[in-house]
Amino acid sequence: MKAEMIANTYQFLLNGEWRESLSGKTIENQSPSDNTPVGSVQAMTENEVNLAVTGAKAAQKDWANLSFSERAELLYAWADQLLEMKEEIAETIMKEVGKGYSSAEKEVVRTADFIKYTAEEGKRIHGELINGGSFNAGSANKLAMVQREPLGVILAISPFNYPVNLSAAKIAPALIAGNAVVFKPATQGAISGTLMVRALDKAGLPSGLVNLVTGKGSEIGDYLTTHPSIDLINFTGGSETGEYISKKASMIPVILELGGKDPAIVLNDADLEKAAGDIVGGGFSYSGQRCTAIKRVLVLDEVADALVDKLKDKIKALEVGMPEDNATVTPLINEKAADFVQQLVDDAVGKGATPLTDIRREGNLVYPVLLDNVTVDMTVAWEEPFGPVLPIIRVQNIEEAVIIANESEYGLQASVFTKNVEQAIRIGSELEVGSVQINGKTERGPDHFPFLGVKNSGLGAQGIRKSIESVTREKVTVLNMS
Ligand code: NAP
Repeated sequence: MKAEMIANTYQFLLNGEWRESLSGKTIENQSPSDNTPVGSVQAMTENEVNLAVTGAKAAQKDWANLSFSERAELLYAWADQLLEMKEEIAETIMKEVGKGYSSAEKEVVRTADFIKYTAEEGKRIHGELINGGSFNAGSANKLAMVQREPLGVILAISPFNYPVNLSAAKIAPALIAGNAVVFKPATQGAISGTLMVRALDKAGLPSGLVNLVTGKGSEIGDYLTTHPSIDLINFTGGSETGEYISKKASMIPVILELGGKDPAIVLNDADLEKAAGDIVGGGFSYSGQRCTAIKRVLVLDEVADALVDKLKDKIKALEVGMPEDNATVTPLINEKAADFVQQLVDDAVGKGATPLTDIRREGNLVYPVLLDNVTVDMTVAWEEPFGPVLPIIRVQNIEEAVIIANESEYGLQASVFTKNVEQAIRIGSELEVGSVQINGKTERGPDHFPFLGVKNSGLGAQGIRKSIESVTREKVTVLNMS
């Protein structure tokens, strides 16, 4: 079914048809850069949300009956369509969420690669045979055939910051495993998400297999997450929202990818030039609006001055400006986000932190801030800013660094910079995080690596194989031989 776009108003996909909501209401998205309208999405009614979920449920059985190879064909075609629409989608991501154009384009290409790899990996998912006699001799006549089955209808809820990549990272594994999907993009990001679904529709999506739900999470979220026909919720977003959703979801599994406060721990023998480059890249790309951004530096006092000098130089060289100019630091997603960063900076400076860059803001554009001499009584030492501010906490020894790293409510990733790899591994084993990066910035990917957070950073694991396994259950058939 051909998608229609009326002026800048986008429709939702329900059971193979692109439609406008009977609510008669739309939500306008404005550019974070200059508040110009980017377009509007439909504010769906509860009844329409219900049709989306029940339609997906109805479509799932036929889809699950197809072979992995047949399902993979849809994913390959989807990846091709995404690449064909690359410029249009990248431009929309740029305008809608304020991401530099080349990063937006990379997001689309990475997504196509992700989808293709998922199709390949799906073909390699297989079950196992377990011999009962391995447990006790009396069970030797039993043989368990363990196969993987789809869960049913997956609810995919994505955040604003990677509106295409983090959406496809939920939809593709669900589809290859034989599930149907109800996809609810972040409202600011919903136009990019809609174009991604349009690519899937063009690729030959069976009617109802992926239904698109648009509307504010605060309005339709509860109805969606408690719908009895949802079999798993795969959510990426803030920890508070994630915790709320996990409390609402009853007797169904949830996968949560939440916030972070990733530290970079810099030891005396670190290659400071490399560490500084990775910290600035990790801390400031897309203005720090990444879950795995480096959000604090824990540096040993002996090398702190030298590191700080290098950080300062590299931050000065960052391009600050508009996404259209491919700047690295661009306006934050909205005014509230910029206000929050400003408050964190004001609180820290008020309590004695030393700003080493000019504190400057124009609308939602917050210039990169490097804060030295941050102490643990400052809010910026603990809160996720989701903006371009990097606190430096000077520590006396490795033990202190580990204690501060672990005192965080979050546990997504951590970096350790040192030439002593054995020591890095030892430190890594003490850090309460999902992943440790030795001599590299914290980041997601390559996408087939396991990706997970502990504590308030998440629940469950992602990474292509893990993501596929997460949306399946094991089914055991026992053959009792005479
Ligand atoms: P958010 O405000 O928590 O929103 C995430 C999604 O949840 C949006 O689609 C939102 O819809 C929806 N939502 C809100 N309330 C809901 C409810 N009651 N029921 C159901 N859905 C609801 O997060 P964000 O600002 O978009 O993203 C930033 C956060 O995501 C940061 O904390 C970041 O660290 C985290 N993140 C984590 C990862 C990771 O992999 N760990 C990756 C990226 C981002 P609306 O937009 O309509 O409100």
